[in-house]
Amino acid sequence: MNDAALREAELRQRKLKLVLDKVKEPDFGICRKCKQPIPDGRLMIRPESVLCVKCAI
Ligand SMILES: [Zn+2]
Repeated sequence: MNDAALREAELRQRKLKLVLDKVKEPDFGICRKCKQPIPDGRLMIRPESVLCVKCAI
């Protein structure tokens, strides 16, 4: 495994841990701004997102 792949694997793992922590929060998947549910597709691509597509612009 080269350095870049290793770094990416670490990053992915850190991200996953962040997501697992977030899922415990009652407002996970809810936009921080408009309080509307964030679509699953967006959460899948960017699990760390706290804003829906509209508010993120
Ligand atoms: Zn929103």
